Amino acid sequence: MAQSILVVEDENSLRGMIMDYLTAIGYAARGSADGLAALKSFAAEPPDLVLLDIMLPGMDGFEVARQVRRQSTVPIIMLTARAEEADKLIGLELGADDYMVKPFSVRELAARIRAIFRRVAMHSAAAQSAGPAPLVHGEFILDYGKRQLTRSGAACPLTAVQFEIVARLIRQPGRVFSRADLLDAVAEGLNSEAYERTIDAHIKNIRKAVEPDPANPRYILTMRNAGYKFAELPVMAADTGGRHE
Ligand code: CA
Repeated sequence: MAQSILVVEDENSLRGMIMDYLTAIGYAARGSADGLAALKSFAAEPPDLVLLDIMLPGMDGFEVARQVRRQSTVPIIMLTARAEEADKLIGLELGADDYMVKPFSVRELAARIRAIFRRVAMHSAAAQSAGPAPLVHGEFILDYGKRQLTRSGAACPLTAVQFEIVARLIRQPGRVFSRADLLDAVAEGLNSEAYERTIDAHIKNIRKAVEPDPANPRYILTMRNAGYKFAELPVMAADTGGRHE
């Protein structure tokens, strides 16, 4: 069955053009012209991916993203007319997976969509197969096979992108990863400096998912001018004889 994409864009001509192109290359595209209609469409039949314009009449794209994220980890690509860094970062902080600045080529958009679907496919294939033994680090258990991270037994709600980043960090506690190192974990061939800043937004979201107090992180630490690292945690009593490496 074709993967379904919800195109939320109030400019009729642009929405139509995107939908035509996506349909032509084999996706099941449907459209909404405003945020409320998008949320209704989402609730009626959750799509496999959402393309979300920021400037919409009534409820803006940020609010739509916020509401979608409350119920779903569906991939979201934000569409922005303004090349402002703040817009991109807000979108990513709300849990968007990627963004496109208008005007963009539909081919480039399709390439980004394919990249995201590839990640999601890897994610679910891994979730179904028995992967390597879970890694225990302090109060965390990383089950890469199931693509799951738990802290003190509770699952951390992470999107596919966020999981890949935190998995890379926690496998080597104490090692400092540059933004470029982490970007490499989630994006293919997008190693520009501007794109590296998006890692900061992802880290912010990951902290919300794994830190008891995201404003004062204990686990995912910022190393000034260098990048990020996962804190080295003491072995917990319950872990003795566990699978520490
Ligand atoms: Ca618009």
